[in-house]
Amino acid sequence: MIVTIDGPAGSGKSTVARLLAERLNFRFLDTGAMYRAVALAVLKASADENHHTAVAEVAKGVSISFDEDRLLLNAQDVTSEIRSPEVTAISSIVAANPEVRKRLVELQRDIGKLVNMVMAGRDQGTVVFPDAEHKFFVMADLEARARRRQRELAYEGVQQTLPVVMEQLRQRDERDETRVHAPMKPAINALVVDTSNLTIAEVVEMLIDRVQVR
Ligand code: C5P
Repeated sequence: MIVTIDGPAGSGKSTVARLLAERLNFRFLDTGAMYRAVALAVLKASADENHHTAVAEVAKGVSISFDEDRLLLNAQDVTSEIRSPEVTAISSIVAANPEVRKRLVELQRDIGKLVNMVMAGRDQGTVVFPDAEHKFFVMADLEARARRRQRELAYEGVQQTLPVVMEQLRQRDERDETRVHAPMKPAINALVVDTSNLTIAEVVEMLIDRVQVR
C-alpha cells in the first residue's frame, strides 16, 4: 500500500509522514531529501544550478540510495550536508529540471514497488503515485511554517529572523507551485489538512483514522 503526503516546506509533512509510517509499520521515504542530494551534487560539481544541461548531466551521473535513515550520494553519507542553507537555496531550482525529476521519479517508483510505503514530497499523489490508496496534502499558513523552520534552524545553530525565513519559504513555494513539470498542488482526491493550529500528534491521529477506516 502507498500513502502519499505532499505539501510545502515547514508544513510538518515529513515529521507526520515518519510518525505515520512508524504507527502503520510502513517504510517512509522523504523524496525532498533526494532532490536535495542532486542539489548537493550540483554544488560539489560547481555546476550552474540554472544551466539546464549541466544540471541534467550531474543528475544522470549520481547514485542516490538509502541506508535505513541515512541518505547516500555516490556511496557517501550526506544526511546532514543536504540540510545546509546552500543546498536548501538551490534545491527548488534544481527540482524544476525535468531530467532531474525523470530520474528521481523512476527511483521513487522502484522503491514504492517493494513494500508498504509512506511517501512525502510535492508530487507524490499527483504524478509519482496517482493510484495511491491514501493521499494527503498537509499545509499551514506561511507564518506558522516560518516559525517552525526558524526553530529547526536555531536547533542546527543557524539564527535567522522571521521575515528572512518567511521570504525564503515564499520564494521556494512560488518556484514549486509555478514550475511546468509536476508543480506542487493537492491531488484531486487528496485530503487537505491545515496544520497551522494543530499539533503533530493531532495530525498523525487524523491521518491514522483515515487510513484505518477506509
Ligand atoms: O521537502 P524539502 O523541503 O526537503 O524539499 C526540497 C525541495 O525539493 C523542494 O523545495 C522542492 O523544490 C523539491 N521537491 C520536489 N518534489 C518532491 C520533493 C521535493 O520538487 N517530491
